[in-house]
Amino acid sequence: MTVREYSHYIAGAYEAWSGETVERRSPANGEPVARYASGTPADIDRAVEAARKAFESGVWSELSGMERAEVLNRLADLIQENFDRLVRIEVEETGKPIRFARGDINGTVGLTRYAASLGMQMAGTTYTNLGRDRTALIMREPVGVVGLVTPWNFPALILMQKVPFALAAGCAVVVKPSEFTSGSALEIAALASKAGLPDGVFNVVSGKGSIVGQRLTDHPGVDFISFTGSTRVGRNVIESSAKNIVKTSMELGGKSANIVFADADLDAAVDGALMGVFFNNGECCVSGSRLFVQSTVADDFIARVARRASELKVGDPFDDKTDIGAMIDENHFGKVLDFVKSGVAEGAKLLTGGEAAKLGAGHYVQPTVFDHVTPSMTIFQEEIFGPVLSVTRFDTLDEVIGLANDSQYGLSNYVWSKNIDTVMTVSKRLKSGWVQANTIIDGAPQLPLTGVKGSGFGYEMGQAGFEEFTQLKTLFLHTGPRQPVFGS
Ligand code: NAD
Repeated sequence: MTVREYSHYIAGAYEAWSGETVERRSPANGEPVARYASGTPADIDRAVEAARKAFESGVWSELSGMERAEVLNRLADLIQENFDRLVRIEVEETGKPIRFARGDINGTVGLTRYAASLGMQMAGTTYTNLGRDRTALIMREPVGVVGLVTPWNFPALILMQKVPFALAAGCAVVVKPSEFTSGSALEIAALASKAGLPDGVFNVVSGKGSIVGQRLTDHPGVDFISFTGSTRVGRNVIESSAKNIVKTSMELGGKSANIVFADADLDAAVDGALMGVFFNNGECCVSGSRLFVQSTVADDFIARVARRASELKVGDPFDDKTDIGAMIDENHFGKVLDFVKSGVAEGAKLLTGGEAAKLGAGHYVQPTVFDHVTPSMTIFQEEIFGPVLSVTRFDTLDEVIGLANDSQYGLSNYVWSKNIDTVMTVSKRLKSGWVQANTIIDGAPQLPLTGVKGSGFGYEMGQAGFEEFTQLKTLFLHTGPRQPVFGS
């Protein structure tokens, strides 16, 4: 296998690099797959300077929405043309099953085209009802130079939940991708140049979060920070932003509830329970990792979920039939297994899995299901970020709302019922930015994602996500003679 080598992408080109590197080994087999520049604060400074220069020159920020949309649509075309390569990079670096990586890259195309269309409609408001000679224009402008920090679980998809929206608004960006999975960001930035994006508008600096991530979020030349990652690091980024009084958007962790009422389509809900926690190896912020099942159907439903989980295929992420690939790295793999041990130690009933799946040098975890999980247990409260499902039984609607909301997080929740009253009541009372009914981990570029509580704030995708990259400026316009206020 060829090891891909990258340096930073700054001002429209890969820079020469002779410094330290971060080596990425495939979590599936331990083989080296990529080497990235291990950046320094000076690299971030150069990237921010390039972005500032590009932004202030107007070479991108002053183009019409139509012109920006043309470039973004060409970028979408180029992503499609490089589809297989980008899919391979995602699989090599993340260890996720290839069918899910294909979905991710397809998703980036849709996001880019949708963002292009929003840029064409970027508009403000005019007030003409303020009285004679008085008009106000509320103008929508790009926010400026944006720092984007992304995680490893959907490297390309989350990148493109941000980048095309920022670009469509006219911003210039500096991206700090995860040190585990920087390949797709570095490739997509070069594709953007090929699509006609001016130099310096899309920069990528690779390296460690504690060094380059920290410098980017501390940098006084950044106007807005859009961060996706853990709640722990998110808190740190908010503290950094306070120093420069910079706006932030925080897409953080989750521990979503997946609630199944007895009157649901139970076949669909069994599949939904599996999708909820085993999709993307369970390394998913909106994972439905806490399953709540109404007692009258619980025994049979939970037995079906556990049996189907035990039949899932764990292994080579490049195999089309694989359901669960490798955990992102050895450290995370160990943490997931520690959570499993805590579940057993704290008295949850292990129905299936519970161990590493021994497959060569990769970091694989068996699909694991625990029954009789209670709110006092660690596995009920903590984001495990692996293929581990916690099941809790409930009797009444009020009871399950209390259980679901008993969480530091509030990202996404799910409800399964054929009763519209139940669906609406539950949806309104759940404390989360997103609720899905009779489906799970679904979505579309038009729909904003946001969290409440420890899951963060600010919007990604949709009109609201686009507007995060803009700011309003009010122009109050007086025409004609003006009545003096102080004398004549
Ligand atoms: P992480 O917080 O460890 O890292 C995220 C990014 O922050 C990485 O690029 C990392 O290098 C960088 N970073 C680390 N330290 C930093 C610092 N001091 N300053 C600035 N940047 C720093 O998260 P992760 O392990 O990469 O991703 C998993 C987490 O992301 C989970 O908690 C998951 O729920 C969350 N996530 C949330 C969403 C969402 O939309 N809400 C989506 C995907 C993932």
